[in-house]
Amino acid sequence: MNLSAAAIGQTLWVLGVIAWYVIRYPFERRAKRVRIVTNRRSFVDMFGLVAATLGLAVIPGIYVATGFPEAADYPAHIWAVAIGALSFFSAMWLFRRTHKELGKNWSITLEIRDKHQLVSGGPYALVRHPMYTSFLLMALGQAFLLPNWIVALAGFVGFAFLFFLRVDKEERMMLDSFGVSYRDYMDRTKRLIPYIY
Ligand code: SAH
Repeated sequence: MNLSAAAIGQTLWVLGVIAWYVIRYPFERRAKRVRIVTNRRSFVDMFGLVAATLGLAVIPGIYVATGFPEAADYPAHIWAVAIGALSFFSAMWLFRRTHKELGKNWSITLEIRDKHQLVSGGPYALVRHPMYTSFLLMALGQAFLLPNWIVALAGFVGFAFLFFLRVDKEERMMLDSFGVSYRDYMDRTKRLIPYIY
């Protein structure tokens, strides 16, 4: 029973990561064709991206492939796998929604593109950073799908590096580009969690 719950959790995590890439890939290709007018790419921002990739892909990937670090394992439960599946599925749904909503305005880092438009519809009507909300839901899903303390922690730490190293700079860049429209948008929305934060 325990072994099979762990195996289901790992399989779902792998499928989730594949879904993540399938959703993102076409946007990466398309983004290359749109000219960048403001570039706030920085070492700090790249560091956040690397930390998120380590915490949400590399460390859990090594765990799934090798079982390392086994000493931090805890027992797998089917209910935990169910919660993890729900979180991960919600994360992927939101991840896809935010890409569709941002369209050509999407960038992997802090950039303003040619004819950049301020997006404030769909999930962006509730929070300013719904894509980062989807990363947080991914970290939550990972913690429930893969029963290992280090792997669980890695996801949240990776997310925290990306989010907290970036969010102020991203909002400053948006304010510099969109002025009062973004200020108004900030007044009506939260950052990450609707009505809370
Ligand atoms: N922080 C957002 C977007 C992540 S992608 C989220 O979590 O959903 C990062 C890029 O999206 C930034 O470089 C910026 O160019 C763009 N961006 C962020 N918020 C935006 C908005 N409301 N409208 C249009 N583009 C936005």
